[in-house]
Amino acid sequence: MTLSATHEWDFSSEQGKANYQAARRQYPAQAIVDLAALRDNMRHLVNVVGGPHSGTAVMGVVKADAYGHGLIPAALAALAGGATWLGTAQSHEALLLRKAGIGPDRCHILTWVYSGAEVPFDELIANDIDISVGSLAGIDGVAAAARRLGKTARVHVKVDSGFGRNGFTPATFDTALAKLVPLAKEGVLHIVGQWSHLAVADAPDVPEFVAATDQQVECFKDFTSRMEAAGIAPEIRHLANTAATLSRPEIHFELTRPGIGLYGYEADPAMGTPSTYDLKPAMTLQAQLGTVKAVEAGHGISYGRTYLTPTDTSTAIVPLGYADGIHRSASGFDMEGAKHVIKPGGPVRVMTAEGPRLYRVSGRVCMDQFMLDLHGSAESLGIHEGDTVELFGPGRGEDYAEPTADDWGRAADTISYEIFTCLRNRIPRLYEHAAEVLPAEDFAKLDPTSIL
Ligand SMILES: *Cc1c(COP(=O)(O)O)cnc(C)c1O
Repeated sequence: MTLSATHEWDFSSEQGKANYQAARRQYPAQAIVDLAALRDNMRHLVNVVGGPHSGTAVMGVVKADAYGHGLIPAALAALAGGATWLGTAQSHEALLLRKAGIGPDRCHILTWVYSGAEVPFDELIANDIDISVGSLAGIDGVAAAARRLGKTARVHVKVDSGFGRNGFTPATFDTALAKLVPLAKEGVLHIVGQWSHLAVADAPDVPEFVAATDQQVECFKDFTSRMEAAGIAPEIRHLANTAATLSRPEIHFELTRPGIGLYGYEADPAMGTPSTYDLKPAMTLQAQLGTVKAVEAGHGISYGRTYLTPTDTSTAIVPLGYADGIHRSASGFDMEGAKHVIKPGGPVRVMTAEGPRLYRVSGRVCMDQFMLDLHGSAESLGIHEGDTVELFGPGRGEDYAEPTADDWGRAADTISYEIFTCLRNRIPRLYEHAAEVLPAEDFAKLDPTSIL
């Protein structure tokens, strides 16, 4: 075999190799995250906004356990790549970052999702975490906590420039300003930022969407003028997600907030592939095959008989299912099956005696496993139980035949974001290049058993 049967991992030590073996014994699948890719993606994003001294800072968005990549390792790699801000939706995750020892001397942290009275505003303020305010109740809650603590709260005023989610609408903004201005004057709140989110920045080729984004930008600027006129001009403004960071330099303002770009993907495959933007997917999801066996032509595969083997063949079990976050919508159907439609399932790279081949999920994805029709005899293809196969990775070249999370997004009628964030934590997360990327005191924050 000329091409490597499986990915060759760059182990940092004998212990790294032992950790890999232990993870394989623990679970028949592993999610391996290349911290050098995360760092390099962040470095690249910092360069895209003009470098560290451009006047535009970059926030690494690490919400949802860093899009499933692991909150702390991903956050540390983002900092190593030049991020000076971190952002999480949930306040719990913002607090976890500070608890891991990522102090205010290293970066600002912004959090933006909360509801009702049960919000740990006190803890957030005490930990120097910036808080988004986009409702009157939010302003009241943050202000009350700041008064209790006797500490000024750093807030970012969220405005709804057209997304239709969080933030003050133009019509309600005067009421918000009437509340914010005296609180700012009194020193209860420090108005750090003004911010908003874009709805269709990932479609730079669709004129209707470009116009909608232009309209959002105009609306955003109107909000700034109203804040200035009220005497609470924001110090920083931020609007750009990954798509706008990559394609709309005129709206980088003082801070951009890329998420998916940090993990190595463009926001939408319609924009191109990761390499179009010099990004490298950081996560590889691999598994070790279960039962491999011969079956006859016309054999139903999995629940619902949605796939009937067209020929005498072999099948292989991949021991991952929807309970691991493999979408059931990535099931594969054929014309002979009960649905009588051809629907290609999610792709899997399998090494054969003739080189790597892409197979597709055959039949329905089950709770803990799915099947592949190997389209031939496993014996002659040289495919065996225990072989390591790859669901997705960085997407290396034609010859390497490596699928990406975008390919799984297509197969499951979703987006790469959901492919990562659905992966359950029962799949071990392992980190490559940790020692090389992280300074010693950060390296020490990682679970030692997770380091390759
Ligand atoms: C998730 C999120 C981002 C990052 O979006 P990407 O498309 O992943 O770059 C930025 N800002 C807000 C408010 C978000 O919720």
